[in-house]
Formats: sequence, structure tokens, C-alpha cells
Amino acid sequence: MRDNTGFGRAYEMNAASTSAGHTFRPQLLDRRARLQAAATSVSAAYLNDLIADIDSALQRIDTGSYGLCETCHDAIEADRLERNPLVRFCLDHLSQAELLAHQQDLELATQIQSKLLPPRDIALESWDTQYRYEPVGAVGGDYCELIVLGDGKSLFFAVGDVAGKGVAASLLMAHLSAIFRSLLSLDLSLADVVSRANRLFSESTAPAHYATLVCGRATADGVELCNAGHCRPLLVQRDATQRLDPTGLPLGLFCAGQYTVRHISLGAGESLALYSDGITEAQDPVGNEYQEERLIRSLREHFEQGAGAMADGVLQDVARFRQTRPAIDDMTLLIVRRRR
Ligand SMILES: [Zn+2]
Repeated sequence: MRDNTGFGRAYEMNAASTSAGHTFRPQLLDRRARLQAAATSVSAAYLNDLIADIDSALQRIDTGSYGLCETCHDAIEADRLERNPLVRFCLDHLSQAELLAHQQDLELATQIQSKLLPPRDIALESWDTQYRYEPVGAVGGDYCELIVLGDGKSLFFAVGDVAGKGVAASLLMAHLSAIFRSLLSLDLSLADVVSRANRLFSESTAPAHYATLVCGRATADGVELCNAGHCRPLLVQRDATQRLDPTGLPLGLFCAGQYTVRHISLGAGESLALYSDGITEAQDPVGNEYQEERLIRSLREHFEQGAGAMADGVLQDVARFRQTRPAIDDMTLLIVRRRR
């Protein structure tokens, strides 16, 4: 817990500023040198303003106030400082103009992300699908994918969860989506797709960035499934529900991760439910979690009514369970249902 009073807080803020100053001083000096080198390409007044901004940041490093909001003196959000080492206010204390610009950025991010999501319902000869994607903020860190494969009868599907929240997580989600889309254009086995995605994701992201993911290929013969450390998908059959355990580690943890695939047969009307932990870990007002048991009950209640009714039934039940408690994590649910 954070000590918000007296000496403890002052010490904490001081340490935050020193560490931010240490990280960003070389960047600021580099910026200054580049600006001076490009001096002839901009007006002198503009150049002087930019250099003054940098010098003021360097001065704040020397006085131990760099990286702290000038209104509340709390540490400025690390990801914002990383994108722009000259920011001087935390998100809570932006000027009207900055706030407006920030809101416009978020709206744009929402639009971009909505274009990355698959069509709402894809129905093939043998399969019906339905998904629901509910980010907790303007953008989400959950990954949801549905791609009809070259033969027009088979389907690639995935649900994943990227570490972190908000815009940073949504950027990683977009990265993951691009990796899978490019790999699926090659003629690879599912285990190869996931192994290569893991390697590409590990090599191109920071070590702290990883994603859990379950994905599969549905063909006329059945489903192949690969689970990289994600919460267990559920096989909802007429008389029983099976929990399908992970078959590998999350993506991005180890370059040499190994992934195995399991084969599953579904009878007509049976479904696979893939979801993110935002659903099972949704909380009611006293902090109880929704959990897998209640998810299974809710899915079974709508078993006969099809994929859309199952997806809506769960989301409505989660909302009932939460009552007034706001969502704390992105929620994704994907139903893949065998038609015949
Ligand atoms: Zn502030």
C-alpha cells in the first residue's frame, strides 16, 4: 500500500523523480543535440521554445522534480512519460487543450481497435460463432479473432489476454493480431503457428510483455485446440461440460516455448466457449468472484438456444452478478458451435 502522508510519501516521490530523471536525461540531451543540428530547418523562435522546454525538463531533473505532476506532485504515468518525456502533468491534471487532445487520441484508438475485431457473427456450413467483447476502458487488452480459412469451410479462432491494461495493452493486442494474421497466410500446422507466434512476440516485445491465448482451427472433422496458458476453454456438450487444460506456456515468456495441440470432436449443437478472466473474475459488491462454476451454469441454461443466446445469457448474468460493482477488467467471450 502506498504511504500518502508525510515523510514516506516525500521519499517515494523523490525516488520516482530520481529514477525518471536517470532514465530520460540521455534522451533529453539527445533531443537537444538533434534540435540544434536541425536548427536551419525551423524558425528561430520555434527552435528556442523547443529548446527551452528541454532545458526546463533537464532543470527539473537537477532539482528532483522531474516526472512529477506540477499540480499534485504525484508521479506522472510511466507510459505517458515514455511517449513524451516533456509532459509535466498527470492525467488527472491536464489542461483543457491537453485533455481534449487526449480524448481525441482515445477515440481514434477505439476506432482503430474496433476495426481489428472480427465480424460479429460468422456462420459456416458446419460452424456458428458469436463473440462479445467488452473493454473496461476506451480500448481493451483482450484479443479476439475469427478468420475464415482458404477453403471457406474452416475457421481459425482465438481469445487472448495481454498483460497490462489500457492503451499500452491494446497496442500489444494489435501486434499479436498482426502476427497471427501474417502466420495464417502460410500453410502451417496449428502447433507451428503458435510456436512461431510465440517466437515473434518474444523477440519483438519487452520481457515483461506476454499474453495468454487459446486458439484453434475448426474444420468439418472437428476442432484442433492449442492453449498457451489461458483460462480453460469449456466444451459444452448435451449432458456434460468439460474443462480443457492448457497445453503450453503464455506467449512471450520463452522464445523456445513448445506447444501441443489436442483434437476435439463436437456433436451437433455442442459448443466450445472461450473467454477471458475478466468474466470469471468479475466481482459482486462484496468482492466475490463470478467464477467458472457459474459461467458453466449460465452457458448450459442457454444450450438449446444457440451461440448468440449463450453469449448474451452469460454477459447478462455477469451484469446481474456484479450489480453496482463496475467492471475491473476487459471481458471477452467467444462461442464456437457445431451446427451439424
Ligand atoms: Zn496531478
